[in-house]
Amino acid sequence: MSRRAGAAAAAACCLTLAACAGEGSGGDAGPGRTSAAPTSSPSNDAPAGDLAIARSQTRTDSVYPEFGNPLVDALHYDLDLTWAPDADRLTGRETLTFRATDDAAQVPLDFNEQLVVSSATVDGAPVEVSVEGNDLTVAHAVVADRQYELVLEYAGTPAPAPAPSQRADFTQGVGWSITPEHETWTLQEPYGAFTWYAVNDQPSDKALYDFTLSAPAPMSGVANGVLTSSTTDGGRSVNSWHLAEPAASYLVTVAFGDFQRTDLSSASGVPIQVWTDADGDPLPGDTAAAPDAIDWLEELLGPYPFDSFGVLVVDNESGMETQTMVTLGDSAYSLSEAVLVHEAAHHWYGDTVTPADWSDVWMNEGMAMYLQGMWEAEQEGTTIVRKIDEWADFESDLRAESGPPGAFDPARFGDGNIYYGPALMWQELRERIGETRFFEVLREWPAREANGTADRREYVDWIEETTDEELSAFFDDWLLDETTPERD
Ligand SMILES: [Zn+2]
Repeated sequence: MSRRAGAAAAAACCLTLAACAGEGSGGDAGPGRTSAAPTSSPSNDAPAGDLAIARSQTRTDSVYPEFGNPLVDALHYDLDLTWAPDADRLTGRETLTFRATDDAAQVPLDFNEQLVVSSATVDGAPVEVSVEGNDLTVAHAVVADRQYELVLEYAGTPAPAPAPSQRADFTQGVGWSITPEHETWTLQEPYGAFTWYAVNDQPSDKALYDFTLSAPAPMSGVANGVLTSSTTDGGRSVNSWHLAEPAASYLVTVAFGDFQRTDLSSASGVPIQVWTDADGDPLPGDTAAAPDAIDWLEELLGPYPFDSFGVLVVDNESGMETQTMVTLGDSAYSLSEAVLVHEAAHHWYGDTVTPADWSDVWMNEGMAMYLQGMWEAEQEGTTIVRKIDEWADFESDLRAESGPPGAFDPARFGDGNIYYGPALMWQELRERIGETRFFEVLREWPAREANGTADRREYVDWIEETTDEELSAFFDDWLLDETTPERD
């Protein structure tokens, strides 16, 4: 996501957030094992067919272990959501198809006790569920590597949860937010999806999504992916959205509002939709430049990794790289072309290859910031070297305040330390390995890891292999040291 820099970070910088990785193994979770013998029915060997792309190697997050559980490998979320603005009430019917990664007596998910579950079934049979705090427990035994379908019906007024951050744009918390006009938007990095649906809310577990969003017209619902149908009947609008590639939960967006839509296209033919307030400019701020942002990035990074791109303008002060439909606050800064470039860059760095653990959020923000810096340098008629020199003036202060980029203070998620230190690091690597190999590394990694997740070790090992350089100490110094390494 993007943000205005605070005083500490000096002049005009914009920040965007991302995620990170840890060690994972799918399997140490889950209270109590069941002794039930697995059946050998091939139809239960999950995931099959189209869902195979959503199979994840899950893990316990090293920074925020209270969210997500490696027992669950979510494959597909079908979210049928109805918004009642007169009562600020959300009614949901969720169908979650998941794979169990181990045997267990019950299934844990992240959810919020603000919402009341009225009905729950697993594979069509009623089950007991309990909700306490941010934990939902489904009283149903599962067997390793088998697939299940959980259906939940629930309703209530979602409330944002406290954010583990000091950022000004997080003061409302994370999750589902309701505006004074009774419109809604979401912001859920590093977690917060659990405030409006039952979810394995940790980035190693990517899943496919379908949304059916219903509201009284002229209000309508916008989400990730492609709008597959849109109807208004009897005073109600119903929009269906399909996301064809797996996404981490922090990259999911849903908003209800009175929107207008404008269709654009990149030079390479990527369809782009801009959704914004029906009463305002159809292309507010620099949103008309969204195709230029995609064009500029494709030159550097290769083909855009998804089927569509979009911009959803909402009533906040932030900017977030929600997959295929970035969510931008309605402000001159959030709607600037620099922020569009930053959030679009995340589609290569963060969205198609996602950190498996939040300690590696630098993988997203360092590269998005570096690419934003290259774009800004071009616009300003300066060089990336000079831009990096400017950033180096305050980078040490950010590192001192919030910790090393790869081992940040968990209570200071999204501070400048995860953006600027890694951006400096990429420039150092560029000077060390040369232009040709540096840009090969930039292009090849997201293509190689498309629709996957990775952690620091996997990333560094691959860069060492592909460049034939010993770089472990280089990356450790830049990512884990309390003080900024010497620059060449
Ligand atoms: Zn970012």
